[in-house]
Amino acid sequence: MRELKFDNRFVHELPGDPESGRHVRPVHEACYSRVDPLPVRAPALLAWSREVGELLGLDEADARSREFAEVFAGNRLLPGMEPYAACYGGHQFGNWAGQLGDGRAITLGEVINRRGERWELQLKGAGPTPYSRHADGRAVLRSSLREFLCSEAMHHLGVPTTRALSLVGTGEEVVRDMLYDGHPRPEPGAVVCRVAPSFIRFGSFEIFASRGEESVLEHLIDFTIARDFRELAGETDPALRRVRWFEEVCRRTAVMVAHWMRVGFVHGVMNTDNMSILGLTIDYGPYGWIDDFDPDWTPNTTDAFHRRYRFGEQPRIAHWNLWQLANAIYPVVRDVDALERGLALYAEVYEAEHRRLMREKLGLTRSVDGNEGGAGGADEALLGDLHRLLREGEMDMTLFFRRLAAFDPAAVQPGLFDDVFYDAARREASAGELERWLQRYAARLEGEGVAQALRSERMNRVNPLYVPRNYLAQQAIDAAETGDLSVLERWLEVLRHPYTEQPDGERFAGKRPDWARDKPGCSMLSCSS
Ligand code: AMP
Ligand code: MG
Repeated sequence: MRELKFDNRFVHELPGDPESGRHVRPVHEACYSRVDPLPVRAPALLAWSREVGELLGLDEADARSREFAEVFAGNRLLPGMEPYAACYGGHQFGNWAGQLGDGRAITLGEVINRRGERWELQLKGAGPTPYSRHADGRAVLRSSLREFLCSEAMHHLGVPTTRALSLVGTGEEVVRDMLYDGHPRPEPGAVVCRVAPSFIRFGSFEIFASRGEESVLEHLIDFTIARDFRELAGETDPALRRVRWFEEVCRRTAVMVAHWMRVGFVHGVMNTDNMSILGLTIDYGPYGWIDDFDPDWTPNTTDAFHRRYRFGEQPRIAHWNLWQLANAIYPVVRDVDALERGLALYAEVYEAEHRRLMREKLGLTRSVDGNEGGAGGADEALLGDLHRLLREGEMDMTLFFRRLAAFDPAAVQPGLFDDVFYDAARREASAGELERWLQRYAARLEGEGVAQALRSERMNRVNPLYVPRNYLAQQAIDAAETGDLSVLERWLEVLRHPYTEQPDGERFAGKRPDWARDKPGCSMLSCSS
Protein backbone atom coordinates (compact mmCIF):
# COMPACT_ATOMS: atom_id res chain seq x y z
CA MET A 1 0.00 0.00 0.00
CA ARG A 2 2.72 2.39 1.00
CA GLU A 3 4.45 1.73 -2.30
CA LEU A 4 1.67 3.34 -4.37
CA LYS A 5 3.33 6.09 -6.38
CA PHE A 6 1.27 9.17 -7.16
CA ASP A 7 1.65 11.81 -9.83
CA ASN A 8 -1.36 14.10 -9.54
CA ARG A 9 -1.31 16.03 -12.77
CA PHE A 10 -4.98 17.06 -12.68
CA VAL A 11 -4.56 19.15 -9.52
CA HIS A 12 -1.05 20.32 -10.34
CA GLU A 13 -1.64 21.49 -13.88
CA LEU A 14 -5.24 22.72 -13.93
CA PRO A 15 -6.76 25.70 -12.14
CA GLY A 16 -8.42 24.87 -8.82
CA ASP A 17 -11.08 26.46 -6.67
CA PRO A 18 -9.43 28.98 -4.30
CA GLU A 19 -12.14 28.40 -1.69
CA SER A 20 -11.90 25.45 0.64
CA GLY A 21 -14.47 23.57 2.66
CA ARG A 22 -17.41 21.39 1.78
CA HIS A 23 -20.10 24.02 1.60
CA VAL A 24 -22.14 23.90 -1.57
CA ARG A 25 -21.28 26.69 -4.02
CA PRO A 26 -20.92 27.64 -7.64
CA VAL A 27 -17.30 27.20 -8.65
CA HIS A 28 -16.00 29.43 -11.45
CA GLU A 29 -12.89 29.20 -13.61
CA ALA A 30 -11.73 26.07 -11.84
CA CYS A 31 -11.64 22.39 -12.74
CA TYR A 32 -11.80 21.07 -9.19
CA SER A 33 -12.15 21.81 -5.48
CA ARG A 34 -9.86 20.20 -2.95
CA VAL A 35 -11.89 18.22 -0.44
CA ASP A 36 -11.12 15.24 1.79
CA PRO A 37 -13.35 12.20 2.09
CA LEU A 38 -15.46 12.30 5.24
CA PRO A 39 -14.56 9.34 7.49
CA VAL A 40 -17.20 6.67 8.13
CA ARG A 41 -17.99 4.76 11.32
CA ALA A 42 -16.86 1.21 10.60
CA PRO A 43 -15.11 0.45 7.29
CA ALA A 44 -15.27 -3.21 6.30
CA LEU A 45 -14.07 -4.70 3.03
CA LEU A 46 -16.96 -6.41 1.25
CA ALA A 47 -15.34 -7.25 -2.10
CA TRP A 48 -12.33 -6.39 -4.18
CA SER A 49 -11.06 -7.08 -7.68
CA ARG A 50 -7.74 -8.88 -7.81
CA GLU A 51 -7.24 -7.84 -11.45
CA VAL A 52 -7.51 -4.16 -10.58
CA GLY A 53 -5.36 -4.78 -7.51
CA GLU A 54 -2.72 -6.22 -9.80
CA LEU A 55 -2.90 -3.19 -12.09
CA LEU A 56 -2.07 -1.06 -9.08
CA GLY A 57 0.48 -3.44 -7.55
CA LEU A 58 -1.77 -4.50 -4.64
CA ASP A 59 -2.17 -8.13 -3.61
CA GLU A 60 -4.44 -10.23 -1.43
CA ALA A 61 -2.48 -9.37 1.73
CA ASP A 62 -2.89 -5.65 0.99
CA ALA A 63 -6.58 -6.08 0.34
CA ARG A 64 -7.15 -7.95 3.60
CA SER A 65 -5.30 -5.36 5.67
CA ARG A 66 -7.06 -2.99 8.04
CA GLU A 67 -5.39 -0.10 6.23
CA PHE A 68 -6.96 -1.05 2.89
CA ALA A 69 -10.52 -0.84 4.21
CA GLU A 70 -9.71 2.44 5.93
CA VAL A 71 -8.09 4.01 2.89
CA PHE A 72 -10.80 2.93 0.48
CA ALA A 73 -13.59 3.98 2.81
CA GLY A 74 -12.01 7.43 2.90
CA ASN A 75 -10.91 7.26 6.55
CA ARG A 76 -7.20 7.52 5.93
CA LEU A 77 -5.00 9.12 3.25
CA LEU A 78 -1.79 7.60 1.97
CA PRO A 79 1.27 9.72 1.32
CA GLY A 80 0.94 11.32 -2.12
CA MET A 81 -2.86 11.42 -2.17
CA GLU A 82 -4.37 14.85 -2.90
CA PRO A 83 -8.15 14.49 -2.80
CA TYR A 84 -10.43 16.62 -4.89
CA ALA A 85 -13.90 16.78 -6.42
CA ALA A 86 -14.13 17.74 -10.10
CA CYS A 87 -16.29 20.56 -11.44
CA TYR A 88 -18.43 19.71 -14.45
CA GLY A 89 -21.83 20.40 -15.93
CA GLY A 90 -24.09 18.42 -18.18
CA HIS A 91 -27.15 17.98 -20.30
CA GLN A 92 -29.59 15.87 -18.33
CA PHE A 93 -32.40 14.23 -20.30
CA GLY A 94 -31.85 16.68 -23.12
CA ASN A 95 -31.71 19.89 -21.06
CA TRP A 96 -28.75 21.92 -19.92
CA ALA A 97 -28.52 21.43 -16.15
CA GLY A 98 -25.70 23.84 -15.28
CA GLN A 99 -23.07 22.99 -12.70
CA LEU A 100 -23.19 19.41 -11.41
CA GLY A 101 -19.73 18.15 -10.46
CA ASP A 102 -18.57 15.31 -8.23
CA GLY A 103 -21.29 15.46 -5.61
CA ARG A 104 -20.22 12.27 -3.92
CA ALA A 105 -17.13 11.19 -5.82
CA ILE A 106 -13.71 12.18 -4.53
CA THR A 107 -10.53 11.45 -6.44
CA LEU A 108 -7.67 10.39 -4.18
CA GLY A 109 -4.90 10.71 -6.75
CA GLU A 110 -3.30 9.38 -9.93
CA VAL A 111 -1.26 6.22 -9.42
CA ILE A 112 1.61 5.41 -11.76
CA ASN A 113 1.97 1.63 -11.84
CA ARG A 114 4.99 -0.52 -12.57
CA ARG A 115 4.29 -0.42 -16.28
CA GLY A 116 4.20 3.37 -16.20
CA GLU A 117 0.41 3.47 -16.68
CA ARG A 118 -1.67 6.15 -15.00
CA TRP A 119 -4.69 5.03 -12.97
CA GLU A 120 -6.87 7.52 -11.15
CA LEU A 121 -8.39 6.28 -7.89
CA GLN A 122 -11.79 7.72 -7.12
CA LEU A 123 -14.07 6.99 -4.17
CA LYS A 124 -17.81 7.11 -4.80
CA GLY A 125 -19.97 7.78 -1.76
CA ALA A 126 -17.14 9.42 0.19
CA GLY A 127 -19.11 12.33 1.64
CA PRO A 128 -20.27 15.82 0.74
CA THR A 129 -18.36 18.11 -1.59
CA PRO A 130 -19.01 21.64 -2.91
CA TYR A 131 -20.95 19.89 -5.71
CA SER A 132 -23.33 17.88 -3.54
CA ARG A 133 -26.20 20.33 -4.12
CA HIS A 134 -29.07 19.08 -1.91
CA ALA A 135 -27.77 15.56 -1.46
CA ASP A 136 -25.67 13.82 1.19
CA GLY A 137 -22.59 12.68 -0.74
CA ARG A 138 -23.19 9.07 0.21
CA ALA A 139 -24.10 5.90 -1.67
CA VAL A 140 -26.09 2.86 -0.60
CA LEU A 141 -24.78 -0.69 -0.68
CA ARG A 142 -27.25 -1.77 -3.36
CA SER A 143 -26.08 0.78 -5.92
CA SER A 144 -22.41 0.47 -4.95
CA LEU A 145 -22.51 -3.29 -5.33
CA ARG A 146 -24.14 -2.87 -8.74
CA GLU A 147 -21.43 -0.46 -9.87
CA PHE A 148 -18.59 -2.58 -8.51
CA LEU A 149 -19.89 -5.76 -10.07
CA CYS A 150 -20.97 -4.43 -13.43
CA SER A 151 -17.83 -2.46 -14.17
CA GLU A 152 -15.70 -5.55 -13.58
CA ALA A 153 -18.11 -7.73 -15.56
CA MET A 154 -17.98 -5.27 -18.47
CA HIS A 155 -14.22 -5.42 -18.48
CA HIS A 156 -14.25 -9.21 -18.71
CA LEU A 157 -16.86 -8.98 -21.47
CA GLY A 158 -14.46 -6.85 -23.49
CA VAL A 159 -16.49 -3.63 -23.24
CA PRO A 160 -14.55 -0.39 -22.64
CA THR A 161 -15.26 0.63 -19.05
CA THR A 162 -14.00 2.24 -15.88
CA ARG A 163 -12.91 -0.37 -13.35
CA ALA A 164 -13.55 -0.95 -9.66
CA LEU A 165 -10.96 -1.90 -7.06
CA SER A 166 -13.09 -2.30 -3.97
CA LEU A 167 -16.45 -2.27 -2.29
CA VAL A 168 -16.23 -1.18 1.34
CA GLY A 169 -19.15 -1.11 3.77
CA THR A 170 -19.31 2.04 5.89
CA GLY A 171 -21.13 0.73 8.96
CA GLU A 172 -23.45 3.71 8.52
CA GLU A 173 -26.95 3.97 7.23
CA VAL A 174 -28.12 6.14 4.39
CA VAL A 175 -31.75 7.11 3.95
CA ARG A 176 -33.19 6.69 0.46
CA ASP A 177 -36.63 6.72 -1.06
CA MET A 178 -35.85 4.05 -3.61
CA LEU A 179 -39.02 4.36 -5.68
CA TYR A 180 -39.59 8.06 -5.00
CA ASP A 181 -42.99 7.15 -3.60
CA GLY A 182 -42.79 8.75 -0.17
CA HIS A 183 -41.36 5.72 1.64
CA PRO A 184 -37.79 6.58 2.57
CA ARG A 185 -35.94 3.95 4.58
CA PRO A 186 -32.45 3.58 6.02
CA GLU A 187 -30.17 1.37 3.99
CA PRO A 188 -26.59 0.22 4.55
CA GLY A 189 -24.00 2.57 3.05
CA ALA A 190 -20.92 1.68 1.01
CA VAL A 191 -18.04 3.22 -0.89
CA VAL A 192 -16.69 1.97 -4.23
CA CYS A 193 -13.18 2.79 -5.35
CA ARG A 194 -13.40 3.33 -9.09
CA VAL A 195 -10.31 3.21 -11.24
CA ALA A 196 -9.73 4.65 -14.72
CA PRO A 197 -7.01 6.54 -16.56
CA SER A 198 -9.29 9.59 -16.34
CA PHE A 199 -12.80 10.49 -15.17
CA ILE A 200 -13.07 13.57 -17.39
CA ARG A 201 -16.52 13.76 -18.98
CA PHE A 202 -18.16 15.61 -21.87
CA GLY A 203 -19.71 17.83 -19.19
CA SER A 204 -16.22 18.78 -17.94
CA PHE A 205 -15.85 20.84 -21.13
CA GLU A 206 -19.45 21.99 -21.39
CA ILE A 207 -19.35 23.79 -18.06
CA PHE A 208 -16.64 26.21 -19.21
CA ALA A 209 -18.20 26.76 -22.60
CA SER A 210 -21.56 27.54 -20.96
CA ARG A 211 -19.95 30.28 -18.87
CA GLY A 212 -17.72 31.68 -21.58
CA GLU A 213 -14.63 30.65 -19.58
CA GLU A 214 -12.65 30.00 -22.71
CA SER A 215 -9.17 30.06 -21.34
CA VAL A 216 -9.98 27.29 -18.82
CA LEU A 217 -11.74 25.41 -21.61
CA GLU A 218 -8.65 25.60 -23.79
CA HIS A 219 -6.42 24.65 -20.91
CA LEU A 220 -8.55 21.58 -20.10
CA ILE A 221 -8.65 20.45 -23.74
CA ASP A 222 -4.89 20.69 -24.12
CA PHE A 223 -4.33 19.03 -20.75
CA THR A 224 -6.63 16.14 -21.70
CA ILE A 225 -4.83 15.63 -24.99
CA ALA A 226 -1.40 15.79 -23.39
CA ARG A 227 -2.19 13.48 -20.48
CA ASP A 228 -4.78 11.06 -21.84
CA PHE A 229 -4.27 11.00 -25.63
CA ARG A 230 -0.53 10.68 -25.85
CA GLU A 231 -0.79 9.06 -29.27
CA LEU A 232 -1.71 12.53 -30.61
CA ALA A 233 1.51 14.13 -29.43
CA GLY A 234 3.03 13.59 -32.90
CA GLU A 235 0.59 16.11 -34.36
CA THR A 236 2.53 19.32 -33.92
CA ASP A 237 -0.11 21.78 -35.14
CA PRO A 238 -2.21 22.49 -32.00
CA ALA A 239 -5.38 23.30 -34.00
CA LEU A 240 -5.13 20.07 -35.94
CA ARG A 241 -4.32 18.16 -32.78
CA ARG A 242 -7.61 19.29 -31.21
CA VAL A 243 -9.50 18.23 -34.32
CA ARG A 244 -7.83 14.82 -34.26
CA TRP A 245 -8.68 14.56 -30.60
CA PHE A 246 -12.38 15.19 -31.19
CA GLU A 247 -12.35 12.59 -33.96
CA GLU A 248 -10.74 10.12 -31.60
CA VAL A 249 -13.41 10.78 -28.94
CA CYS A 250 -16.08 10.18 -31.59
CA ARG A 251 -14.40 6.96 -32.69
CA ARG A 252 -14.04 5.58 -29.18
CA THR A 253 -17.61 6.48 -28.25
CA ALA A 254 -18.86 4.64 -31.32
CA VAL A 255 -16.89 1.51 -30.43
CA MET A 256 -18.18 1.61 -26.85
CA VAL A 257 -21.84 1.88 -27.85
CA ALA A 258 -21.46 -0.86 -30.48
CA HIS A 259 -20.27 -3.15 -27.69
CA TRP A 260 -23.23 -2.17 -25.50
CA MET A 261 -25.52 -3.29 -28.30
CA ARG A 262 -23.56 -6.52 -28.72
CA VAL A 263 -23.93 -7.60 -25.10
CA GLY A 264 -27.37 -6.10 -24.38
CA PHE A 265 -26.34 -3.36 -21.94
CA VAL A 266 -28.60 -0.37 -21.29
CA HIS A 267 -26.80 2.47 -19.53
CA GLY A 268 -30.00 4.12 -18.35
CA VAL A 269 -28.72 7.69 -17.81
CA MET A 270 -26.75 8.81 -20.84
CA ASN A 271 -26.56 12.42 -19.70
CA THR A 272 -23.49 14.25 -20.97
CA ASP A 273 -22.03 14.31 -17.46
CA ASN A 274 -22.06 10.51 -17.64
CA MET A 275 -20.09 10.30 -20.90
CA SER A 276 -16.39 9.60 -20.48
CA ILE A 277 -13.99 11.50 -22.72
CA LEU A 278 -12.05 8.22 -23.06
CA GLY A 279 -15.01 6.33 -24.49
CA LEU A 280 -15.38 4.22 -21.35
CA THR A 281 -18.67 3.13 -19.85
CA ILE A 282 -18.93 5.32 -16.77
CA ASP A 283 -21.31 5.98 -13.85
CA TYR A 284 -23.24 2.79 -13.36
CA GLY A 285 -26.60 3.81 -11.95
CA PRO A 286 -30.01 2.51 -13.01
CA TYR A 287 -28.46 0.46 -15.81
CA GLY A 288 -29.92 -2.83 -16.96
CA TRP A 289 -29.36 -5.86 -19.15
CA ILE A 290 -31.66 -6.96 -21.88
CA ASP A 291 -33.48 -10.16 -20.96
CA ASP A 292 -36.23 -10.50 -23.60
CA PHE A 293 -35.04 -8.62 -26.67
CA ASP A 294 -36.81 -5.27 -26.55
CA PRO A 295 -35.16 -2.22 -28.13
CA ASP A 296 -37.69 0.01 -26.34
CA TRP A 297 -36.78 -1.15 -22.88
CA THR A 298 -35.18 1.07 -20.27
CA PRO A 299 -34.57 0.03 -16.68
CA ASN A 300 -34.67 3.64 -15.44
CA THR A 301 -38.06 4.48 -13.90
CA THR A 302 -37.16 8.18 -14.00
CA ASP A 303 -37.15 7.83 -17.80
CA ALA A 304 -40.14 5.50 -18.04
CA PHE A 305 -42.34 8.01 -19.83
CA HIS A 306 -40.11 9.35 -22.61
CA ARG A 307 -37.71 6.41 -22.73
CA ARG A 308 -35.04 8.73 -24.03
CA TYR A 309 -32.29 6.32 -23.02
CA ARG A 310 -33.91 3.06 -24.13
CA PHE A 311 -31.73 0.25 -25.46
CA GLY A 312 -32.26 0.83 -29.17
CA GLU A 313 -31.83 4.59 -28.89
CA GLN A 314 -28.34 4.52 -27.37
CA PRO A 315 -26.41 4.91 -30.63
CA ARG A 316 -28.38 8.04 -31.50
CA ILE A 317 -28.09 9.50 -28.01
CA ALA A 318 -24.32 9.08 -28.07
CA HIS A 319 -24.31 11.06 -31.30
CA TRP A 320 -26.45 13.78 -29.72
CA ASN A 321 -24.08 13.90 -26.76
CA LEU A 322 -21.06 14.23 -29.05
CA TRP A 323 -22.85 17.06 -30.76
CA GLN A 324 -23.10 18.84 -27.39
CA LEU A 325 -19.40 18.24 -26.90
CA ALA A 326 -18.70 19.67 -30.36
CA ASN A 327 -20.68 22.78 -29.45
CA ALA A 328 -18.77 23.10 -26.21
CA ILE A 329 -15.30 22.90 -27.74
CA TYR A 330 -16.17 25.05 -30.77
CA PRO A 331 -14.91 28.31 -29.18
CA VAL A 332 -11.45 26.73 -29.03
CA VAL A 333 -11.51 24.66 -32.24
CA ARG A 334 -13.36 27.22 -34.41
CA ASP A 335 -13.72 24.85 -37.34
CA VAL A 336 -17.31 23.78 -37.98
CA ASP A 337 -16.42 21.51 -40.89
CA ALA A 338 -13.87 19.63 -38.83
CA LEU A 339 -16.34 19.11 -36.00
CA GLU A 340 -18.99 17.93 -38.43
CA ARG A 341 -16.51 15.49 -39.91
CA GLY A 342 -15.94 14.11 -36.42
CA LEU A 343 -19.67 13.63 -35.91
CA ALA A 344 -19.95 11.94 -39.31
CA LEU A 345 -17.04 9.70 -38.33
CA TYR A 346 -19.00 8.63 -35.27
CA ALA A 347 -21.84 7.41 -37.48
CA GLU A 348 -19.47 5.64 -39.86
CA VAL A 349 -17.49 3.91 -37.15
CA TYR A 350 -20.65 2.94 -35.30
CA GLU A 351 -22.23 1.44 -38.42
CA ALA A 352 -19.09 -0.47 -39.37
CA GLU A 353 -18.45 -1.71 -35.86
CA HIS A 354 -22.06 -2.67 -35.28
CA ARG A 355 -22.18 -4.60 -38.55
CA ARG A 356 -18.91 -6.35 -37.78
CA LEU A 357 -19.99 -7.35 -34.27
CA MET A 358 -23.43 -8.52 -35.42
CA ARG A 359 -21.86 -10.69 -38.10
CA GLU A 360 -19.57 -12.15 -35.45
CA LYS A 361 -22.57 -12.82 -33.24
CA LEU A 362 -24.08 -14.79 -36.11
CA GLY A 363 -20.81 -16.59 -36.78
CA LEU A 364 -20.48 -15.10 -40.27
CA THR A 365 -16.98 -14.48 -41.50
CA ARG A 366 -17.27 -14.10 -45.24
CA SER A 367 -19.24 -11.49 -47.09
CA VAL A 368 -21.81 -12.80 -49.53
CA ASP A 369 -23.14 -9.38 -50.33
CA GLY A 370 -19.96 -7.93 -51.69
CA ASN A 371 -21.03 -4.78 -49.87
CA GLU A 372 -19.68 -5.36 -46.42
CA GLY A 373 -19.33 -1.65 -45.92
CA GLY A 374 -22.86 -0.78 -46.95
CA ALA A 375 -26.34 -1.47 -45.67
CA GLY A 376 -29.13 -3.35 -47.33
CA GLY A 377 -27.37 -6.60 -48.24
CA ALA A 378 -28.63 -10.13 -47.67
CA ASP A 379 -26.89 -10.34 -44.31
CA GLU A 380 -28.50 -7.09 -43.26
CA ALA A 381 -31.89 -8.54 -44.07
CA LEU A 382 -31.06 -11.74 -42.20
CA LEU A 383 -30.10 -9.72 -39.14
CA GLY A 384 -33.02 -7.30 -39.40
CA ASP A 385 -35.48 -10.18 -39.60
CA LEU A 386 -33.81 -11.84 -36.65
CA HIS A 387 -34.19 -8.72 -34.52
CA ARG A 388 -37.86 -8.55 -35.42
CA LEU A 389 -38.28 -12.21 -34.58
CA LEU A 390 -36.47 -11.91 -31.24
CA ARG A 391 -38.65 -8.99 -30.32
CA GLU A 392 -41.99 -10.36 -31.45
CA GLY A 393 -41.21 -13.76 -29.98
CA GLU A 394 -40.06 -12.14 -26.71
CA MET A 395 -36.91 -14.22 -26.73
CA ASP A 396 -34.01 -13.93 -24.34
CA MET A 397 -31.20 -12.20 -26.22
CA THR A 398 -28.28 -13.78 -24.39
CA LEU A 399 -29.62 -17.33 -24.43
CA PHE A 400 -30.72 -17.10 -28.05
CA PHE A 401 -27.21 -16.44 -29.35
CA ARG A 402 -25.74 -19.24 -27.23
CA ARG A 403 -28.32 -21.65 -28.64
CA LEU A 404 -27.62 -20.39 -32.13
CA ALA A 405 -23.98 -21.35 -31.68
CA ALA A 406 -25.11 -24.89 -30.86
CA PHE A 407 -27.50 -25.00 -33.82
CA ASP A 408 -26.25 -27.53 -36.36
CA PRO A 409 -27.93 -27.30 -39.77
CA ALA A 410 -26.90 -30.88 -40.50
CA ALA A 411 -28.57 -32.37 -37.43
CA VAL A 412 -32.04 -31.19 -36.50
CA GLN A 413 -32.29 -30.62 -32.76
CA PRO A 414 -35.94 -30.24 -31.85
CA GLY A 415 -36.58 -27.95 -28.90
CA LEU A 416 -33.15 -26.33 -29.05
CA PHE A 417 -34.66 -22.87 -28.67
CA ASP A 418 -37.58 -23.77 -26.43
CA ASP A 419 -36.28 -22.29 -23.19
CA VAL A 420 -35.25 -19.07 -24.90
CA PHE A 421 -38.87 -17.90 -24.86
CA TYR A 422 -40.51 -16.14 -21.92
CA ASP A 423 -44.02 -16.99 -22.96
CA ALA A 424 -45.44 -20.26 -24.29
CA ALA A 425 -48.06 -18.56 -26.45
CA ARG A 426 -45.41 -16.44 -28.11
CA ARG A 427 -43.29 -19.51 -28.65
CA GLU A 428 -46.15 -21.22 -30.46
CA ALA A 429 -46.88 -18.15 -32.52
CA SER A 430 -43.24 -17.68 -33.54
CA ALA A 431 -42.40 -21.31 -34.26
CA GLY A 432 -43.03 -21.15 -38.00
CA GLU A 433 -41.13 -17.95 -38.49
CA LEU A 434 -38.21 -19.12 -36.40
CA GLU A 435 -38.08 -22.30 -38.47
CA ARG A 436 -38.01 -20.33 -41.72
CA TRP A 437 -35.36 -18.00 -40.39
CA LEU A 438 -33.19 -20.93 -39.32
CA GLN A 439 -33.49 -22.39 -42.81
CA ARG A 440 -32.22 -19.16 -44.32
CA TYR A 441 -29.47 -19.05 -41.76
CA ALA A 442 -28.50 -22.65 -42.49
CA ALA A 443 -28.33 -21.87 -46.21
CA ARG A 444 -26.18 -18.86 -45.45
CA LEU A 445 -23.83 -20.97 -43.33
CA GLU A 446 -23.32 -23.36 -46.22
CA GLY A 447 -21.66 -20.55 -48.12
CA GLU A 448 -19.25 -20.08 -45.23
CA GLY A 449 -17.85 -23.61 -45.37
CA VAL A 450 -16.77 -23.42 -41.74
CA ALA A 451 -16.91 -26.58 -39.61
CA GLN A 452 -19.75 -26.52 -37.11
CA ALA A 453 -17.44 -26.92 -34.10
CA LEU A 454 -15.26 -24.04 -35.17
CA ARG A 455 -18.21 -21.74 -35.87
CA SER A 456 -19.72 -22.63 -32.53
CA GLU A 457 -16.50 -21.87 -30.72
CA ARG A 458 -16.12 -18.54 -32.51
CA MET A 459 -19.67 -17.51 -31.73
CA ASN A 460 -19.30 -18.37 -28.08
CA ARG A 461 -16.36 -16.02 -27.91
CA VAL A 462 -18.52 -12.98 -28.73
CA ASN A 463 -21.86 -14.09 -27.28
CA PRO A 464 -21.58 -14.18 -23.50
CA LEU A 465 -23.32 -16.83 -21.43
CA TYR A 466 -23.06 -14.88 -18.17
CA VAL A 467 -24.07 -11.23 -17.95
CA PRO A 468 -24.95 -9.30 -14.78
CA ARG A 469 -28.67 -9.78 -15.20
CA ASN A 470 -30.76 -7.46 -13.09
CA TYR A 471 -32.53 -10.10 -11.02
CA LEU A 472 -29.23 -11.79 -10.19
CA ALA A 473 -27.80 -8.47 -9.04
CA GLN A 474 -30.83 -8.07 -6.79
CA GLN A 475 -30.24 -11.53 -5.29
CA ALA A 476 -26.60 -10.67 -4.62
CA ILE A 477 -27.74 -7.41 -2.99
CA ASP A 478 -30.38 -9.09 -0.84
CA ALA A 479 -27.76 -11.53 0.43
CA ALA A 480 -25.13 -8.83 0.97
CA GLU A 481 -27.59 -6.71 2.96
CA THR A 482 -27.91 -9.59 5.43
CA GLY A 483 -24.13 -9.90 5.64
CA ASP A 484 -23.83 -12.86 3.25
CA LEU A 485 -21.24 -12.06 0.59
CA SER A 486 -20.94 -15.57 -0.81
CA VAL A 487 -23.37 -14.95 -3.69
CA LEU A 488 -21.44 -11.88 -4.82
CA GLU A 489 -18.10 -13.68 -4.55
CA ARG A 490 -19.24 -16.74 -6.47
CA TRP A 491 -20.87 -14.63 -9.15
CA LEU A 492 -17.85 -12.41 -9.55
CA GLU A 493 -15.79 -15.53 -10.13
CA VAL A 494 -18.21 -16.69 -12.85
CA LEU A 495 -18.27 -13.25 -14.48
CA ARG A 496 -14.49 -13.37 -14.85
CA HIS A 497 -15.06 -15.81 -17.72
CA PRO A 498 -18.38 -14.74 -19.22
CA TYR A 499 -17.92 -16.67 -22.46
CA THR A 500 -16.96 -20.01 -20.92
CA GLU A 501 -19.53 -22.44 -19.57
CA GLN A 502 -18.63 -23.18 -15.98
CA PRO A 503 -19.45 -26.10 -13.72
CA ASP A 504 -22.21 -25.06 -11.28
CA GLY A 505 -22.62 -21.83 -13.24
CA GLU A 506 -26.24 -22.56 -14.26
CA ARG A 507 -27.77 -20.43 -11.55
CA PHE A 508 -26.03 -17.41 -13.12
CA ALA A 509 -27.07 -18.19 -16.68
CA GLY A 510 -30.82 -18.60 -16.40
CA LYS A 511 -33.26 -16.23 -17.98
CA ARG A 512 -35.24 -13.86 -15.79
CA PRO A 513 -37.75 -15.77 -13.65
CA ASP A 514 -41.38 -14.70 -13.70
CA TRP A 515 -41.29 -13.20 -10.23
CA ALA A 516 -38.66 -10.71 -11.37
CA ARG A 517 -40.54 -9.36 -14.37
CA ASP A 518 -41.81 -6.17 -12.73
CA LYS A 519 -39.98 -6.25 -9.44
CA PRO A 520 -38.11 -3.14 -8.27
CA GLY A 521 -34.38 -3.68 -8.61
CA CYS A 522 -34.91 -6.38 -11.24
CA SER A 523 -36.54 -4.56 -14.11
CA MET A 524 -37.27 -1.18 -12.56
CA LEU A 525 -34.52 0.95 -11.14
CA SER A 526 -34.53 4.54 -10.02
CA CYS A 527 -31.74 7.09 -9.84
CA SER A 528 -32.04 6.96 -6.06
CA SER A 529 -28.74 5.50 -5.06
P1 AMP B 1 -25.86 10.82 -11.64
O1 AMP B 1 -27.20 10.89 -12.28
O2 AMP B 1 -25.72 9.70 -10.62
O3 AMP B 1 -24.75 10.80 -12.63
O4 AMP B 1 -25.69 12.12 -10.76
C1 AMP B 1 -25.85 13.42 -11.27
C2 AMP B 1 -25.24 14.41 -10.32
O5 AMP B 1 -25.81 14.29 -9.01
C3 AMP B 1 -23.75 14.28 -10.14
O6 AMP B 1 -23.22 15.57 -10.04
C4 AMP B 1 -23.63 13.54 -8.83
O7 AMP B 1 -22.41 13.79 -8.19
C5 AMP B 1 -24.80 14.11 -8.04
N1 AMP B 1 -25.28 13.17 -7.02
C6 AMP B 1 -25.97 12.03 -7.19
N2 AMP B 1 -26.22 11.43 -6.02
C7 AMP B 1 -25.66 12.21 -5.05
C8 AMP B 1 -25.58 12.13 -3.62
N3 AMP B 1 -26.11 11.14 -2.94
N4 AMP B 1 -24.92 13.12 -3.00
C9 AMP B 1 -24.37 14.13 -3.67
N5 AMP B 1 -24.43 14.28 -4.99
C10 AMP B 1 -25.06 13.33 -5.70
MG1 MG C 1 -22.96 10.97 -12.96
